[in-house]
Amino acid sequence: MSKFKEVADRIKSSSYTVVFTGAGMSAESNIPTFRGRNGLWSKYNPMELATPEAFRRDPYKVWEWYKMRMEIILNAEPHEGYYIISKWEEKGYVKRVITQNVDGLHYRSGSRNILELHGNIFRGRCISCWYKVHFKEAPSEIPPRCPFCNSLIRPDVVWFGEPLDTETISKAYEEAARSDVFIVIGTSGVVYPAAELPIIAKQYGSTIIEINIEETPISVYADYVFRMKASEALSQIDKYID
Ligand code: NAD
Ligand code: ZN
Repeated sequence: MSKFKEVADRIKSSSYTVVFTGAGMSAESNIPTFRGRNGLWSKYNPMELATPEAFRRDPYKVWEWYKMRMEIILNAEPHEGYYIISKWEEKGYVKRVITQNVDGLHYRSGSRNILELHGNIFRGRCISCWYKVHFKEAPSEIPPRCPFCNSLIRPDVVWFGEPLDTETISKAYEEAARSDVFIVIGTSGVVYPAAELPIIAKQYGSTIIEINIEETPISVYADYVFRMKASEALSQIDKYID
């Protein structure tokens, strides 16, 4: 039997499928990853910009980078794989999407039960009074300032070295433990908690399916590995899902 059909059958007979995505999920929508083969940024080093220290040092430079990323995301469209995941949710197979991405593409493609572990790039928050702002487009004046207290607004995303929102991460652990099929797509699996969620799922007896163009630490214990692009693997599996 084809591996695609086997996995499709698992999904169809599952009672709680969870999808877990990283930057690789958006690579085919032309949103660059940080790591991996096509993860090169020419002018910026994400590891040196996505930190609270960088923001303190040079908020303009950090905002310049976020502004550029917002523009890339606004010009991007969710690829076919995104729509397949939202269709599986609509059919009742996928119960939860957990993402490390900040681009909002899951929401744009119709998924609804989403946990955004790292926040959303289109949200900003005041560093002093916790005023929150939603951006429809990239802010014209950077760095933006709080309309209430005039402090700096920062992107409402989790930076390197910062803790995740406790409620969101505990919910993600719960969902991993509860899942009977756990599909990991486009994450290098080296950063906490990306490294932990599939392990928890595995410990609780879930079937782990990995989709990634490269080998990762998850590959060794995954029950099924599809060494291919996200949209390719998802559409092959979807052929057997009605
Ligand atoms: P990551 O650690 O999730 O690594 C990207 C992974 O995707 C790699 O393992 C790579 O092999 C895989 N990959 C690349 N193209 C793929 C494809 N077409 N199909 C399947 N797999 C593919 O992510 P990162 O780039 O190291 O980023 C670190 C953090 O920053 C994460 O939280 C990430 O989600 C976030 N980030 C988000 C976005 C976004 O919102 N779109 C973009 C860049 C980074
Ligand atoms: Zn404020």
